[in-house]
Amino acid sequence: MAAGIFTDDLFLQHDTGRSHPESPSRLLAIRERLEGGLASHFKTLSRRFADPTQIQLIHDGRYVQELERFCNAHGGYLDGDTPVSDQSYRAALLAAGAGLEAADQIQSGNISRALLLVRPPGHHSLVQRAMGFCLFNNVAICARYLQLLGHKKIAIVDWDVHHGNGTQDAFYEDPSVLFISLHQYPFYPGSGAASETGRGAGAGTTLNCPLPAGSADAEYKQAFEKKILPALEQFGPNAILISAGFDAHRDDPLAGMLLTATSYEWMSRKLRDFADSHCDGRLISFLEGGYNLDALADSVEAHASVLI
Ligand SMILES: [Zn+2]
Repeated sequence: MAAGIFTDDLFLQHDTGRSHPESPSRLLAIRERLEGGLASHFKTLSRRFADPTQIQLIHDGRYVQELERFCNAHGGYLDGDTPVSDQSYRAALLAAGAGLEAADQIQSGNISRALLLVRPPGHHSLVQRAMGFCLFNNVAICARYLQLLGHKKIAIVDWDVHHGNGTQDAFYEDPSVLFISLHQYPFYPGSGAASETGRGAGAGTTLNCPLPAGSADAEYKQAFEKKILPALEQFGPNAILISAGFDAHRDDPLAGMLLTATSYEWMSRKLRDFADSHCDGRLISFLEGGYNLDALADSVEAHASVLI
């Protein structure tokens, strides 16, 4: 079964300023690496903007309106590290829309998995506000949309080096979504202790794997084999979503982990194989962080090589 891919020039117009690490050059570095190479093995997905009401599968309507107004008024900083430009709202609707299009294409049997090279990223964004370079929670919106299509149990695996606090919050009391995060800890944004396991009906469907700075392949593999794969087996999801940040690479300037591109290939293969054997192949991967351009291109290429 084919794999889909999506990226778009509009994502380059989410202009975060000259010195911001979450820059358009990240996508350009990835595109340069994949074009003429692995990209030809993927089916290109159609361009689709999420409707603001679909953003409200996760986010508060007032936040969506405020973000639109703020961007239309030429943008600025939403919080200490989250700048937006006049095109950022549209770029964010397109990033979320990519997840909806991938879900529909999987539903109609045209593809079984998808790689979505989008920005702005999403996993820190909260119901009522932007946070940490993230505007709309693309992966969380996609999880809710897949549920509307009839896939009741969704697992989200977040291997970005930062804890996916926004995604965790969205599903913390929801037993239908298993949220799993591997991240440097203690570290930004501060959450993600192993003791955070969900609340109420959602007790037990959040799995945090906090790892100390300096962790490498061995620690990640151990977390996968001892915790993550058994949790996925036990939960029995209908689809796997990946918050694929590549900032745990050893060359990343924002964090202190020691992964290589090979580590991402290994994790990708584990999740692809799980999706193939348990979820009819359904897997959608969303780009989150990753700030060393060479390391990012290497890592995404390794990830993509497993998805084709
Ligand atoms: Zn990150």
